Amino acid sequence: MGKAMHDTPMLDQLESGPWPSFVTGLKRLANDESLTYQDMVVDLLGQLEHSYKTRKGYWKGGTVGVIGYGGGIIPRFSEVAAEYPASKEFHTLRVQPPAGMHYDTKLMRNLCDIWEKHGSGLIAFHGQSGDIMFQGASTEKVQDAFNDFNEIGFDLGGAGPAVRTGMSCVGAARCEQSCANEQKILRTLVNNFLDDMHRPALPYKFKFKVSGCPNDCMNAIERADMAVIGTWRDDMKVDQEEVKAFVAKNGSKYVVDNVISRCPTQALSLNDDNTLAVDNRNCVRCMHCVNVMTKALSPGDDKGVTILMGGKRTLKIGDLMGTVVVPFMKLETEEDYERITEIAEETIDFFAENALEHERTGEMIERIGLVNFLEGIGLEVDPNMISEPRQSSYVRIDTWEEEADKWNERKAEEKAA
Ligand code: SF4
Repeated sequence: MGKAMHDTPMLDQLESGPWPSFVTGLKRLANDESLTYQDMVVDLLGQLEHSYKTRKGYWKGGTVGVIGYGGGIIPRFSEVAAEYPASKEFHTLRVQPPAGMHYDTKLMRNLCDIWEKHGSGLIAFHGQSGDIMFQGASTEKVQDAFNDFNEIGFDLGGAGPAVRTGMSCVGAARCEQSCANEQKILRTLVNNFLDDMHRPALPYKFKFKVSGCPNDCMNAIERADMAVIGTWRDDMKVDQEEVKAFVAKNGSKYVVDNVISRCPTQALSLNDDNTLAVDNRNCVRCMHCVNVMTKALSPGDDKGVTILMGGKRTLKIGDLMGTVVVPFMKLETEEDYERITEIAEETIDFFAENALEHERTGEMIERIGLVNFLEGIGLEVDPNMISEPRQSSYVRIDTWEEEADKWNERKAEEKAA
């Protein structure tokens, strides 16, 4: 018989709404006799109710780690341990998910078994950071849990001022819009920067996110210091028979109202015979039409990626979207992957040397200027570097003669090659 449950009238109310409640989940764990640390969840519920009553949080940080690692564990010590002793230590292990978050059920059962043995049983798939969050281990058990996770091939993620756990979308395995091998990109980057992930030594966090197409399901533009997003540069593919079938099924008014007129650059029009005309030079790859007419429209064949730097949430100077620093690059050969790693290395080195403490890449770029940043990481200025498609090229080629000449020369050389 486990410890008696605390009265939780305020938490109980959270179970009454229409959505699944985390309180119900916690109660299930608290009543599970098979859990090694069942009492921990009982006291966790008690402490949470106490927090709701007093409107205060009672977790404080500290230092907890595993051998050889400088990060990856989020320490949580309770300030009300006298009243709720079983949950006095409730640390979180951040564990990196597989790229694209592909698991099989056996693997998930193994993860659950390990956590039910060493921790509270409470798991978040996945936290905002992208990691699997194994929440609730005592200081003593952190190493044991890590050892077991490691045994089945998992590693801790990043925490603190370090390269953080990367994220990639589910990708081509389940999504037909994918324009890049997002899992390979992520693994290449993560494997290359594992040291910087496990031993925090940067001015602040640095995140990679990889989305396979411009839908950007990883929200890489808004949330990654370095975003790699799949795209295409030739014409999108149009199956006119499918267009006609779509118009026949939904009516031309529906198509005009929901596809044609919603193209942000008016690049679409419906012909008299109900086929679709696409002005590809004006398409900004917003993906709207491709998402609506999935059978008729798909990305082109000449696929590659766009790289953006400096996206982040609020912090000091407000939300920042990533800035395009590589408008398009092919990712086919091993050299291409080496190049992308090289760009990341240059950026992280520059960030390590030039950012102020607690400053993200985007803020550093704002402070020192984009031109200095590009020079620092060895990228040539290109008028296709933009903040918003078609609207604001950073590069004024009308007045920036020298850069414009350089760019024109480069383009001419590329053409000749
Ligand atoms: Fe227009 Fe977006 Fe479709 Fe391009 S992808 S044609 S910008 S709706």
